[in-house]
Amino acid sequence: MSFESDLPHNNQELYSRACQLIPGGVNSPVRAFKSVGGVPFFTSRGEGAYLFDEEGNKYVDYIQSYGACILGHGDSRVAAAISSAAKNGTTFGTPTLAEVELAELIVDRVEGLEMLRLTSSGTEATMSAIRVARGFTGRDKILKFDGCYHGHSDALLVAGGSGVASLSIPDSVGVPMSAISDTVVAPYNKLPELDDSFAAVIVEPIAANMGLVAPGPGFLEALRKRCNENGIVLIFDEVITGFRVGYGGASGLFGIIPDMWCFGKVIGGGLPIGAFGGKREIMQRLAPEGPVYQAGTLSGNPIATAAGITVINLLEETSYETLKDTAAKLTSGLREVFAAGGIPAQVPQVSSLVGLFFGDLQVTNYASAKESVGLGLYEKFFHGMLDQGIALAPGPYEAIFPGLSHGQRELDRTLEAATKVVSNLH
Ligand SMILES: *Cc1c(COP(=O)(O)O)cnc(C)c1O
Repeated sequence: MSFESDLPHNNQELYSRACQLIPGGVNSPVRAFKSVGGVPFFTSRGEGAYLFDEEGNKYVDYIQSYGACILGHGDSRVAAAISSAAKNGTTFGTPTLAEVELAELIVDRVEGLEMLRLTSSGTEATMSAIRVARGFTGRDKILKFDGCYHGHSDALLVAGGSGVASLSIPDSVGVPMSAISDTVVAPYNKLPELDDSFAAVIVEPIAANMGLVAPGPGFLEALRKRCNENGIVLIFDEVITGFRVGYGGASGLFGIIPDMWCFGKVIGGGLPIGAFGGKREIMQRLAPEGPVYQAGTLSGNPIATAAGITVINLLEETSYETLKDTAAKLTSGLREVFAAGGIPAQVPQVSSLVGLFFGDLQVTNYASAKESVGLGLYEKFFHGMLDQGIALAPGPYEAIFPGLSHGQRELDRTLEAATKVVSNLH
């Protein structure tokens, strides 16, 4: 850790102040450090791969806003786009050119995607995708996978991973049974029983909210086939994987085309955004063309679309080679560190995404992820790394997000820190 200047704040004091007014001191639960213990740091600014907190500590950041940032923090090109958009007005409630441009950019890159609508968050995207799939099929039942997170709408807040998993709340209080009575939950990486009573199957094509769990060989193909056989809308929730794991997202990476997609995070360049889309015949069921209602005052917001367009335009085919290469170096480096330190751990990697599970057990679904987390090593590793100036997500079910701003220097620092931390893990 280095100390930039004598900033007047103290994380503990800020946290106490926050806790007076904001439940748990945070506006999204995982930020509160509950599953790792201790006091969260308050970020004052970010620069590339680095975060600086209000005390002046500097961290190599692998949270990257849980995947919303891919270029790194404070990118000058994105900042310029935001500032020039803002000068022209921040929201109008009329259609704008930028919305059309962003839609074109997304549709161009994602094979099979024909129409889409922008929202203000990933939660709205998945919630709306479910509604239009139900409207399209005239069926109510949906299937989701254990440990996959699809935002916090009622019907999808069953067996979610991510922050929900960290808090060990199987289902949130406040979600009525009636809201989830049509939601069936099945284990990830196993072809579920399906029939023609299901409207939709929603899946993270690479599960990144129960730690990082790759789809097993044939899993997504079999799911695609079974949905076809039963007229079920297959929804890929690519809120994390879209524009992160490849030029055409996870569907492009695996060559499997769902009926619908959900996006968020990367496509807003760090501003609030989401999108859902799919086949024309499905999306045309949406109001005002069809009878399925969905709306948003700030949907397609000019600042968010300006940032999104800028980021997507900066992501070229070669960017994904760079991202994957960085992720591979981090993965192999961490594997070596754990092996040398005699700590059983798995460091999964899928394209640009990296995960970390302690223990010997092969993690393929939420049940095995929970067993690994139960070993209780993540919190020790997390705090050790944080003390060395490396910020991982404060929860064992989150992915590690190396981005385009993480270079050799940051990787070296990370592995050096990990070596020290692992030697104290016994
Ligand atoms: C983050 C996330 C969401 C929810 O997006 P928000 O913008 O937080 O509402 C949905 N699905 C997946 C896979 C996510 O990772």
